[in-house]
Parts: sequence; C-alpha cells; structure tokens
Amino acid sequence: MSVDFDGTLMRNPYWSLHLKPWLLTQAGFGHKSWQKLWETMAEESEHRLRHRNFQGAYDWQDIASKTLHMSLPNPNPPRREDLIPLVYPDVWDFLLWATGKRLTLHIVTNGLIKNQWPYLRALGWDKIFTSWIGADSGFAKPDPRPFRLITGLSAHIGDRLAHDVLGAKRASILAVHLKRPGNQEDKRGWDALSPSFCQADLTVKSLQELPERLTQVLPTIQHEGQVGYERYSHRWQTLRP
Ligand SMILES: [Mg+2]
Repeated sequence: MSVDFDGTLMRNPYWSLHLKPWLLTQAGFGHKSWQKLWETMAEESEHRLRHRNFQGAYDWQDIASKTLHMSLPNPNPPRREDLIPLVYPDVWDFLLWATGKRLTLHIVTNGLIKNQWPYLRALGWDKIFTSWIGADSGFAKPDPRPFRLITGLSAHIGDRLAHDVLGAKRASILAVHLKRPGNQEDKRGWDALSPSFCQADLTVKSLQELPERLTQVLPTIQHEGQVGYERYSHRWQTLRP
C-alpha cells in the first residue's frame, strides 16, 4: 500500500519549516513581499508541469535560482518537536494498524525525496516505510509510473483527486481518496489528456476509517507484504509522540 505525504500524513513540512520562512527572510531584505516572491516561484513550477518537467517543477532550489536569482539552501535537520504538530493526529494509529498487519508501506509523493527525507527521518518513518518515490524518479502523479516502480502494490491513499486518485486509477490499483474536512480540494489536473475530476474507489474523511473500510473492499490486504513489524516493532513506542 502506498501513501501520499503532504496533505495526507502531514501538513507540508518543507513549506512550513523551510520554504515559507526563507521567503519571509528574503522579503525582509528586499522590496518584494514574500507572497510576490512565492507567486513567481509557483508560476515557474506550473509552467514546468505544463511542459511535463515533473522533476523540475518541484525543484524549488532550481526555481529560486532561475526565477529569483537567489540561493535557497537545503533544509536544516528538523527537530522532532517542530514536526509533531504538523502530523495529522490520525496518522499514528493508522501506522500502528498497518505495521501490526505487516503491510508494506510506501510513500509516493510529488515532492523531491531530497526535500522530504529530513522530515521522514526525524520522525523515524524511514523505519516504517519500505520505499519513498518522489518526482526525483522522473515521474509524478497522476502518471501511473511512480506506482509501477513498486511491485505488488494494491492500493494508494492520498488527498488529491487529480494526483493521487487519478494516478492510482491509471495504475489499476485501489484509489483511496482521503477527503479531510476543511481541506480544499484542488481539482485542476495537469495532464491535458485526463479528466480533471476522477471518482475514487473509496473515500474516507479520516485515516481512522481506513482499517475497517479497506478490509471490506480489499480482504487480501491482510496478507500483503512481509516487511517491517518484527524488525521495527521494538522501536514503535519511541515513534509515537
Ligand atoms: Mg497530498
């Protein structure tokens, strides 16, 4: 089973702890507001997406350098206590359930892993997830190819219809839409050949609903995967906040 990162497991830590603070600092040095600086970067990202440059579209260092002529550093190793408030509260029980079922968990994100890795590591999730696939792979959701890099994948859970659901449907795996109350759904699809709206196989409002709902539609999920639990169960208690 694969899981999206930003908006599904956490509120984007790269944005909250690194990119936005950096934009605020840069705005303090110059005449432009941080919003204007961000607008310029976001426009370039959208331009790259439209030209199917998926890796470049999420490479904020390169975008900052090309559009703002500024050097955006790598994120500093984050402190766990700064990250915990960004993790959705239902994530911990979900991870406990999945590791207890010995499910193999993967992350499929459109962010670059080099930007996500410090956060995954600080949370101890590098011990929970078997693999991490980001736009560094050269593919980004809703392209089905990031999912096809994982053998035997049966389901993907994510918060965006145009990325997570559409990509999972195209990869012929169960598409689970996590529709958190209050989260704005961005229905724009970047792929001109796709509908911008896609019907999920399963919609849940919280990860709490997932164990029961998933087991109903996918009984074999209980037997999926071999990785993880024995190796990491002793570490589990230290992972929970
Ligand atoms: Mg997301």
